[in-house]
Amino acid sequence: MYDKNNIFAKILRGEISCNRYFENNYALAFEDINPQREIHVLVIPKGEFSDLDDFNNKATDIEIAEFFRAITQVVRQLGISSSSGGYRVISNIGVNAGQEVPHLHFHILGGEPLGRMLSTRPLKENG
Ligand code: AMP
Repeated sequence: MYDKNNIFAKILRGEISCNRYFENNYALAFEDINPQREIHVLVIPKGEFSDLDDFNNKATDIEIAEFFRAITQVVRQLGISSSSGGYRVISNIGVNAGQEVPHLHFHILGGEPLGRMLSTRPLKENG
């Protein structure tokens, strides 16, 4: 079940501020508070969806189309389209991926060479 008290829900309600890059009726993009690369922006849908599967199961076709289009609009605005260096999108889903905030978000990373997709393999805790 969707947790209405997650931090991104609070940002959407205007209870917490963010460094906003883009907004339309369906999506909001803002700077990650703890950037991992030169450019690190998060794109979230405005509806209540806890992760990508929840979104694909419940969102309307227009919500899905507008959310994914918003990613490209943000990328264009940031000047990091494929013709301008490129970027990476990541969405963490669930425990194994280390999802911290239970509201669907896509990380957009760019502005510099990003290196390998997964640089280290975490060691299993028990051998
Ligand atoms: P994930 O691990 O994929 O759930 O990523 C959650 C991301 O949200 C992390 O990169 C955090 O740095 C970021 N984050 C957490 N709180 C905020 C906030 N108030 N404003 C912007 N980014 C945030």
